[in-house]
Amino acid sequence: MALLDDRLLWIGGQYVAASDDSFFDTLNPATGEVICRVARAGAEDVDKAVAAAELGQREWAAMSGAERGRVLLRTAQLLRQHCDEIARLESLDGGKPIAETPEADVGSAADCLEFFAGQAASLQGEYQPVPGGFFYTRPEPLGICAGIGAWNYPVQIAAWKSAPALAAGNAMIFKPAELTPLSALRLAELFKDAGLPDGVFNVVQGFAETGQALTAHPRIAKVSLTGEVGTGKAVMRAAADTLKGVTLELGGKSPLIVFDDANLDNAVGAALLGNFYTQGQICTNSTRVFVQESIREKFIEKLVARAGKMKVGDPLDPDTDVGPLISAEHLQNVLAYIDKGKAEGGKLLLGGGRAEVPGCEGGNFVQPTIFDGLRDDMTIVREEIFGPVLSLLSFREEGEVLERANNTEFGLAGGVFTRDIQRAHRVADRLDAGIVWINHYNLTPVEMPFGGFKQSGIGKENSRRAFEHYTRLKTVYVAAGDVDSPY
Ligand code: NDP
Repeated sequence: MALLDDRLLWIGGQYVAASDDSFFDTLNPATGEVICRVARAGAEDVDKAVAAAELGQREWAAMSGAERGRVLLRTAQLLRQHCDEIARLESLDGGKPIAETPEADVGSAADCLEFFAGQAASLQGEYQPVPGGFFYTRPEPLGICAGIGAWNYPVQIAAWKSAPALAAGNAMIFKPAELTPLSALRLAELFKDAGLPDGVFNVVQGFAETGQALTAHPRIAKVSLTGEVGTGKAVMRAAADTLKGVTLELGGKSPLIVFDDANLDNAVGAALLGNFYTQGQICTNSTRVFVQESIREKFIEKLVARAGKMKVGDPLDPDTDVGPLISAEHLQNVLAYIDKGKAEGGKLLLGGGRAEVPGCEGGNFVQPTIFDGLRDDMTIVREEIFGPVLSLLSFREEGEVLERANNTEFGLAGGVFTRDIQRAHRVADRLDAGIVWINHYNLTPVEMPFGGFKQSGIGKENSRRAFEHYTRLKTVYVAAGDVDSPY
């Protein structure tokens, strides 16, 4: 028997059944049990959501920025009030440790809504005198935006996409990943409780074809996707038919470079955070850890000792550090990468297989895994694994490590640990990555632009920069004199 009641689609401020009344199951990754059935949206449902969003968006865009900001702020307050409940839901649906979800998921979503609540009244254009008159510009909402989410940070992604979109006066139709559809619906309920007009935020659960229906829809102006590189390319190609704008937050294989003058404990802490938080299912993770040769042994000793103490367990247990991977299929992918690492000659320093968790026999658990003895051309060093697998590499000098760090099709993030301030900034300058952390890793405050280079994506989320991707700039010329026409 399912744990929760069926979940329907959220369209026009209420729950509605899918047109063909179809459902899919969402599972608990810690046990393999069905949590509940979830309505599956088809193209007809996407049409309904678009019609509802058009009505809602007109009302919403006519409100002042300050009024819109108040609604977003109230939503953030409600999220914080219901933090425990939503964090639990997120841990149940996504397998994320309950030690993480209150802050990293619910808190991060609330931070984002608060930030854009404060920005909603501050969208400004410019004014400039020009020959014969002047012009001004108006940042206008795009209309209806689609958000398509990945499964690793479900409620955070829903907020990172909807908060700037709504603050700028757009409506959003959000499709959560089919593996984690529950928390976006809870967010939709809280938006309504906070006073959001019906139709401004809609949730259509489903699979790739639901995303395709959104991407192809002629009355949707923009699509923002978080997902894999291949999905990003498919979305961009499909968006070309209606010339939609796209924001793409895609995968990575990011480097963390540790120089011999670094604070070793901090660097080890960052390498652990950047590989094992959320079971390693984080796009920006520092999966290639480059350590300068002279400190290699010390670094390894500290790293393996601390990683070995991490507790793999039931995500609802507050002592758990590492929960299950999202699905049985993803577990097989990650195990296949581990096997490839071994077959290609990698040396295991820790882990390297499935983990058993008493009471969670059907769960998708993997041991935190550390490989040494690797070369840059090995599969596990080149490809995104999206699991708790750290690749250790060593280097001699700065120029060499920069060249190797940048030798990838990805360009999402990177980190450098050193006490040499000039070297820190030089490395930050030369890393070909959208986000660089100096002496830390994976912190993403909402004030900071977030997004990748190269095949890791297009556009930025968070910060005021996000508005550039959710507004269109209209230029208005105003004549100061008569029309001097030769005709
Ligand atoms: P996917 O690319 O498989 O899926 C992302 C979303 O796109 C899902 O909702 C999926 O639907 C949907 N989708 C799949 N195919 C299409 C299509 N053709 N058209 C429209 N929508 C489609 O990614 P995952 O969910 O597996 O997430 C993991 C990936 O996300 C990793 O590569 C990771 O690096 C990346 N990621 C990037 C982040 C960033 O900010 N840069 C942050 C987090 C993750 P369905 O529900 O069927 O899966």
